[in-house]
Formats: sequence, structure tokens, C-alpha cells
Amino acid sequence: MDFFEEMELRIPKGKVRTRFAPSPTGYMHVGNLRTALYTWLIARRHGGTFILRIEDTDQGRLVEGAVDVIYKTMAECGLTHDEGPDVGGPVGPYVQSQRRDLFGKYAELLVQRGGAYYCFCQKSEEEESGEEDPKQIKKHVCACRDLPLDEALAKKAAGMPYVIRQKIPAEGTTTFHDASFGDITVENKELEDQVLLKTDGLPTYNFANVVDDHLMGITHVVRGSEYLSSAPKYNLLYEAFGWDVPTYVHCSPVMRDAQHKMSKRHGDPSYEDLINEGYLTEAVLNYVALLGWSPKGELAEREFFTLNELAAVFDISGISKSPAVFDINKLRWMNAEYMKKLSPEEFYAKAEPYLKQAVTNPAIDLHAVAALVQSRCEVLSDLAERVDFLDKLPEYDTALYVHKKSKTTLENSLESLQWSLDVLRSLEIWTNERLYEALVALAAEKGVKNAIVLWPLRVAVSGKASTPGGATELCALLGKEESIRRIEAGIALLQK
Ligand code: GLU
Repeated sequence: MDFFEEMELRIPKGKVRTRFAPSPTGYMHVGNLRTALYTWLIARRHGGTFILRIEDTDQGRLVEGAVDVIYKTMAECGLTHDEGPDVGGPVGPYVQSQRRDLFGKYAELLVQRGGAYYCFCQKSEEEESGEEDPKQIKKHVCACRDLPLDEALAKKAAGMPYVIRQKIPAEGTTTFHDASFGDITVENKELEDQVLLKTDGLPTYNFANVVDDHLMGITHVVRGSEYLSSAPKYNLLYEAFGWDVPTYVHCSPVMRDAQHKMSKRHGDPSYEDLINEGYLTEAVLNYVALLGWSPKGELAEREFFTLNELAAVFDISGISKSPAVFDINKLRWMNAEYMKKLSPEEFYAKAEPYLKQAVTNPAIDLHAVAALVQSRCEVLSDLAERVDFLDKLPEYDTALYVHKKSKTTLENSLESLQWSLDVLRSLEIWTNERLYEALVALAAEKGVKNAIVLWPLRVAVSGKASTPGGATELCALLGKEESIRRIEAGIALLQK
């Protein structure tokens, strides 16, 4: 048995096998997260195997610590892998740079099989990488393609630098099938004899992905649609090796708006940015799942799915080929719904660091603040700004006292604050319920609507037009002494 036959025997067969193959960039794009999620879901839906492969052959772009970011994000999202660099598996190594020797061997095998050739033309590294902007490619044509193999091997043995290029058939067409884009046919004469192995012996992505996907037994390849135009070349490689082509699932880009792809460089958030801004991982995953995939039949209208629920219903046919627009307001809404569903303890655990940033006064019960804001907050990072008035009464304009719907004016606000002050000074049990009873009784006694009493009080204790909670809830949080102090300050302001 030769080396190649042994490699074939290692490949697990008979089950769905998918892989997420990130290049370590130091963060997770929303589009990448979606690819990871769909890939994981396909494996889980079919009781298959999910593999993590690190694609680090572009050594120039390596970022320190970037691989850890990948592990951390995957773990946080619950996208657990069954095989990968850290957990091992039957078809390792799972880090591309550790597979270097393999690519050389397979490139030479391909030369033997007539699917590739040694090219001794000296080109710039960028041209050789085969990874420059595809629109810029001028088709490579050279005499090396027709050099007899023994002559090429002699040059190689003499130490001449070379690359290995794919030998694309000069004529005919190549057709490939994609699960969402359908059949796509291209003329072979349009395809470049791309570099597979560079002078330094490292593979290009275009070669490595085919060899790795085959040797890892990948059945479904999910990736961004930027790779769609290269897919015919991949098919020709699979054919030249005599390997089965996997199912391709190319996903359209996630857009910022109708014209622009989301881009971290242009300020669009990555997964980490969203989490740092106070979005919940579960909400982000749910939202991202629906960016380019939709459930069918009875579930067609449904918007809320846990990861496990998705794993039970996810199907490739629901993936759309039209680009999806990332709508931050929709995500905010979804995040708010997820926050409402947390138990008070879970919410508190998440909210505490944000609340502590804004409220430093130890007399204020942060658990009570959390209970008040849980159903009124879309994103955790909004919290500080919503509750900071509890720490310190902001300066405010008396115009806040004038509220049409409550029928309050500067004059009746002053009067009602004076009434409230009298009542509250003598109130002994300082709870929301007792405060409310006392103030409603006060309004009744004075023959005015509740709002005439409650609106000015809320403004006086918060200095804000909108607050997480009504006047009595805020007074209960602030405590008697502080509430009285703020009401007195409000009276003084209105008397000016
Ligand atoms: N390393 C490639 C990327 O991060 C993966 C493409 C693929 O999944 O085949 O874009």
C-alpha cells in the first residue's frame, strides 16, 4: 500500500462531515459566524461530525492570539467541534501549516496524473500566490505547460525554483452544482492555470482547501460566495485526482446596506464588538441564523430559535442566495426579547458590570435597579445611560415639568411638588406600594388627576423625561432622604 492509499483509508465514510475553516484574523466577522453556525447546524441536523480546521497558510497575515479568539468564540456560541487542533481526530493535523508536506506530495501526484505542471517562469510573489483580485488576473500562458515531465523533473533536480500550476483543459466547459445557486457552467478557456504550490512549498488556499476537504472526508462545504467563481477550478482538481466533489453551499454576503458588504474596516461590528456592546450571544446567534436562512412550512413565520431548536429543523434548502442586510435595529429588538426571557438572577449577573459603571452609591440596591430595567432595555450597554441619574441628579431644564398629556405646567408642578413633599416627609414605610397609595390618595384629596402629582415627582427625582420606572418606583430605589432632597431641589428650581 502506498502513501496515498493509506491516506484514503484514514478518511471516515458514511456520515455527514462538515468543517469550519477560519483564517485566524483576530476577530469573528458576522459573516464568518454565520458560516460557522450553518456548518455546525448541518452536521448536527444529520448526526454528523463537525470539524474545526485552522487555515493559517497565509503566514503574512497571521495575528498573534487569533487562534484563541476562534476557540473562545466557538465555545461561547456553543458551536462545539468533534475534531480539531485541540481535540484531535482521525484525519489530523487540523492546522493547515502543519500539513505542509502533504500538499507538496499531492501537488506532485497531480502532476503525475496530468492535472498540473511545474512552472519555472519567475513571477512576483503576489502573482504566484494566485490570491490577488481575480479581476486583475491576466491569464497565465507559458511554455512550461507543455514541457515533457522528465525535462521538468531534471530542471527541478538542478535546483531551479518552481511553482506548480493547475493544468486547466484548453477546451470545453466545466459545470458545478451549488445547493443555493444551482448549476453553474463556465468555459474552461476563461479559467486561469492557477498556482497550487508556491515557490516556498506552501499551498495556495485554492489548492489546500480541495486537498484538505477531501482528506478530511468533508461532505458539505459551506463558505462565502466570494469563492463561487473559483469553484469550477476546484471541480477540475477533484476530477483530476479522481475524487468525489462535496456538496457546495455558498452563502451570499452579509450587507450593511443594499450596496455595501459589512466590513470591520469600515466600522461594522464583528461578533466580539456586538458582545462588548452588550448583546447576548443567544440573541446574536438567533439573529445571524436568520440572515440568509429561513424556516419553512409551519415554522415559516417563526423568529425565535435556540441553537438546539435550529439544529432540529435547519435544512440547506432554506438558505437564500440573495444577500441579507444586517439590521441592527432588528437585532436590538431581538436582544430585548432575549433579555426579558432571562430569570432575574441571570439578568442580574449580566447587567451587574454595566450597572456598577453607572451607579456607585452603595445605598442603591442594584438588584432592584436590575428588576426595574430588565424589561425596558434593548442592549446591556444602554443601561449605564438609563440609570446614571440614580447616582447623581443631572442638571435639567424646568421645561421637563411641562407635559401636555399629563396637563402639567410649571405652576401646578410647583404646587404639586410642595404637596408631595409634605405627604412624603411624614411617610414612614418607604416602599413602592406605600408611596403609590399615599400619592394617589393625595391626588384624590386635592381633586386632581394622578398624573398632576406623579409627573412632576418623577421629573424632580430623575431629572429626565424618560426613566425606567415611574415616580414611586424611583423614590423607592433612591430612599427617603435622597428623594426628599431631590424634591426640595425641584421646588427651588421652579421657584427661581
Ligand atoms: N479560510 C477561508 C476563510 O476564512 C475559508 C474558506 C472556506 O471555508 O473554504 O475565508
